[in-house]
Amino acid sequence: MKSMTEEEAKAARRLYMKGYMRGKRVLIDLASVLDARDRFWSRVRLPNAVGVDVCWEWQGRVDKDGYGVTSVALTGQQSHRIAWILSHERLIPIGMQVLHRCDNPSCCNPSHLLLGTPKDNARDRDVKGRDRWSNP
Ligand SMILES: [Zn+2]
Repeated sequence: MKSMTEEEAKAARRLYMKGYMRGKRVLIDLASVLDARDRFWSRVRLPNAVGVDVCWEWQGRVDKDGYGVTSVALTGQQSHRIAWILSHERLIPIGMQVLHRCDNPSCCNPSHLLLGTPKDNARDRDVKGRDRWSNP
């Protein structure tokens, strides 16, 4: 099998993500998000100790719903979505959302984030408490 050239690999990483910014279809370049990794994590309150399961709260601006807002790679992106991209080193599949297990919109802890459909998200909002996530 012929391996991809660097240019081809770069092209393959560029994907359209729908609904990223106020419902507008925008082009996200994975490489430029990954390049901003250090800048992004410097805005997140990371735990002092290893192995503690706490929320990693976004230290920058938040929107009216409490979601962190960052301008890494593009303006006005939600910080938990960037945290998911950085921890998985891939873009969020089209039509999927990044949901919080912890119901803390500003949390960027990758272990508190999971992919779901908009339908999952709506169902999650209807479920009271966190029991739904105790046995993933
Ligand atoms: Zn959390």
